Amino acid sequence: MPVLLHDTMSRELRPLLPRRPDGVYGMYCCGPTVYGPAHIGNFRTFVLQDTLRRVLEADGIRVRHVRNITDVDDKTIRGAREAGKSLADFTRGWTEKFHRDCAALNLLPPHVEPGAVAHIPHQVRMIEALVARGHAYVAKDGSVYFKVCSCPDYGKLSHLDRSRLASQDTNSAGEANDADEYDRESAADFALWKSRKPEDGDNHWPSPWGEGRPGWHIECSAMSLEHLGATFDLHAGGVDLCFPHHENEIAQSECATGAKGFASHWFHSAHLMVEGRKMSKSLGNLFTLDDLAARGWSPMEVRWALLAGHYRSPLNFTFKGLDDARSALAKLERGCDALLATAGFTRAEFAPPTTHEPRVGWGRLEAAWERLRDDLNVPGALGEVFKALAHPPADPEEARRDVAGLARVLLALGIIPFAPRPAPEAPPEVRSLAERRWAAKQSRDFAAADALRAELAGLGWDMLDRKDGFDLRPR
Ligand code: AMP
Ligand code: ZN
Repeated sequence: MPVLLHDTMSRELRPLLPRRPDGVYGMYCCGPTVYGPAHIGNFRTFVLQDTLRRVLEADGIRVRHVRNITDVDDKTIRGAREAGKSLADFTRGWTEKFHRDCAALNLLPPHVEPGAVAHIPHQVRMIEALVARGHAYVAKDGSVYFKVCSCPDYGKLSHLDRSRLASQDTNSAGEANDADEYDRESAADFALWKSRKPEDGDNHWPSPWGEGRPGWHIECSAMSLEHLGATFDLHAGGVDLCFPHHENEIAQSECATGAKGFASHWFHSAHLMVEGRKMSKSLGNLFTLDDLAARGWSPMEVRWALLAGHYRSPLNFTFKGLDDARSALAKLERGCDALLATAGFTRAEFAPPTTHEPRVGWGRLEAAWERLRDDLNVPGALGEVFKALAHPPADPEEARRDVAGLARVLLALGIIPFAPRPAPEAPPEVRSLAERRWAAKQSRDFAAADALRAELAGLGWDMLDRKDGFDLRPR
């Protein structure tokens, strides 16, 4: 029985099976826009995609994972200008930061990570094909638009009511399309090529329609064609990308290549929320991995917290959620220790494997593995892991089988137990109180030192004295 996953287009659970004759499973994930650090909402989506890839690999499928970098759009151009850097230098810095965060969260690097700027000729070729086939037109200013009415099944992914397409509130242009609506034949049409504007600075490229830059949607169509072919197995992103971005990708790709069935399966993950609203840069309600590290949360705890809810349900971000992740990880580590002791292994021998060894089986972790194969049910799988750990076997041979199964389940989840936690950084007001207390203690004013200790405790911090200084720990 293959791995099952919900598909947005058919709204059904469908098996994930490679359709290429070489058996390689092609997976395209819309990647980050690199104009600042990715927030943990973005990482919920990337962690889920990584986990899906790991589950497929654990199932014996060879995956080709493509995740792009959006390194040209309004936000990156504006950011580079404000930073006084070239677009390339600006986006390189944020791409490197993204890679460091991905590594900390134990995300497997994609096999191909194409950038939009490096694929401008591919995008131009695709736009040329769309114009030639009558699916796109050139406006007076040299911008090119996709003609939505030329695509009879436009809206099939998001089950759109086509009668509402022409109204501004449901149009497919998306917020990034700043075109003058009078240039477009219909409000539903969206930009494929944007003619050069003064605020673009040096960021313009030649095209048959004059200098300019590509619209956002076309990059994923061009890069998936280049790296996976006209049709491929699975396309993924957060739910906000379903419409208009993915809908537009389908229209562009199918109309340009003539091949129907652009992606066989659509995997959309629900959002990470903060007090009922999507975590996003524009709402300013975001946390980055660095923000959480400064408060003492390890990337593994963050990964656990992001995986704790099912991918089809929005997940509310709270510090209580991180506390729960910390307790669950500690409980997992205690369970591992008990199993390892019965099996006669040390922690050092329990380095989770880097590739799956189907020969070794799953032991009593089979139920956890089955949950993962059934619509990526991570919370269900974690429940089964704890069920198995709650009743450790007495027989060393059985414990060794469970250790092997547990190592494989954790590899599929991307969870590494026993990872070191970062020391949290105290905020400046806490540090200055602590320095005053240290000075009071050095001058033997113990009453003042005690009062300051109490004040620190009130702020949630303990001060641990050493001979030559002090450490601060959250209580
Ligand atoms: P962006 O860098 O804005 O292009 O987004 C990168 C990925 O993060 C996309 O797949 C988005 O759908 C996803 N994303 C953005 N915000 C959230 C959120 N709050 N929760 C989950 N995924 C998100
Ligand atoms: Zn995309």
